[in-house]
Amino acid sequence: MPSERPDLIILGGGLAGGLIALVLAARRPDLSLTIIEAGDTLGGNHVWSFFDSDVAAADRALVEPLIVHRWPSYDVRFPGHSRTIGEPYNAIESEHFDRVVRSALPADAIVHAIVAEATSTSVTLADGRTLTTKAVIDTRGAGDLTTLRCGWQKFLGQTLQLAAPHGLTRPVVMDAKVDQSEGYRFVYLLPFGPTEIFVEDTYYSDTPDLDVETLKLRIADYSAAPAWTVASTSRTETGVLPVVIGGDFDAYWPAADKVARGGVRAGLFQPLTSYSLPDAVRFASWLATLPDLSGPTLAHATRDYARRQWRRNAYYRMLGMLLFRAADPPKRYRILERFYRLSPALIGRFYAGRSTLVDKLRVLSGRPPVPLGRAVKALVERK
Ligand SMILES: Cc1cc2nc3c(=O)[nH]c(=O)nc-3n(C[C@H](O)[C@H](O)[C@H](O)COP(=O)(O)OP(=O)(O)OC[C@H]3O[C@@H](n4cnc5c(N)ncnc54)[C@H](O)[C@@H]3O)c2cc1C
Repeated sequence: MPSERPDLIILGGGLAGGLIALVLAARRPDLSLTIIEAGDTLGGNHVWSFFDSDVAAADRALVEPLIVHRWPSYDVRFPGHSRTIGEPYNAIESEHFDRVVRSALPADAIVHAIVAEATSTSVTLADGRTLTTKAVIDTRGAGDLTTLRCGWQKFLGQTLQLAAPHGLTRPVVMDAKVDQSEGYRFVYLLPFGPTEIFVEDTYYSDTPDLDVETLKLRIADYSAAPAWTVASTSRTETGVLPVVIGGDFDAYWPAADKVARGGVRAGLFQPLTSYSLPDAVRFASWLATLPDLSGPTLAHATRDYARRQWRRNAYYRMLGMLLFRAADPPKRYRILERFYRLSPALIGRFYAGRSTLVDKLRVLSGRPPVPLGRAVKALVERK
């Protein structure tokens, strides 16, 4: 247990909490930090990926030590076209994330415990202990998703060790040449080495239930087609991520909740991809510039920040609404297929949640890939 009252207690040592700690350790070494994490390791069990264009040049040095693999380009495959896009792609593995964050902090800065309650300046643990601090930030992952209207992106990924080389040299970010009958489905491939490959089966689905055994069988089927012989499986990860298509920020983060938030807890993710790394890096970088990190001020500033970002994300929620409400599940892939004909720069800004007005118009221009009447109905019903 850290002996002194720290400047900041971070609740949850996942992606957002770990990044905040890394950035503050580098840019505000005067501050004392404590991370309280329920799991045995920081970052849980994840492979996080991001495009170079997701992270501003000024923040690149923050994520560089976390990267375990980098590829200069990636592929997408659809029934109607396939394409290689020359944008570098990076992967972070949670085991490495844990090591890097730990090495940036004093050993006693990480407390393995479950948070029960918090105020802006105190934390009560499940074992009854209370810690006091100058400020608290809550980065314990998703908040109350029932306050939002969501579709779901759900997946199961496995790292496979093959008996012979797979022959892939770059990631396949979406292989949508697979059965589409249940909604938008794609397989995601990361070739970590000549005989090591991460294979993830992903669904954009109306429901959050994940049938783990069926997805394992589908990965086995997918791997059998190119005649890969799987020698062993070294990682299995699952995810059920919200694709937010509507809802009210004030319900997700009520004004009465006076504890600062970051990460998915603050609603800081791209609503359509559900990816939070670009936001988490930007947020951590912004946080380090705040002159006053005292609890109530930090709570106010972070809620303001998240609220602004929520408004900016309205466009992506609207696209999500079109995807889930205006397109029949087996035809949802057409929206993505069409999107992937656009320029790499536009695609990059879209993933980063930084689309310009021209980008937004460009994505919507031309012959709509969904029936117009249903699109209008979906948008009218949108909150
Ligand atoms: C398998 C998977 C893969 C993903 N891949 C990507 C990707 O490639 N790129 C991308 O941008 N996004 C990805 N995402 C989406 C999103 O970026 C991640 O979910 C990301 O980890 C969210 O960051 P976070 O810090 O908000 O929450 P988390 O990383 O989930 O961190 C929350 C932390 O809080 C801890 N915690 C929770 N409750 C308590 C408590 N009561 N007391 C103490 N600790 C607590 C948890 O143990 C956890 O470590 C992925 C999600 C999943 C599930």
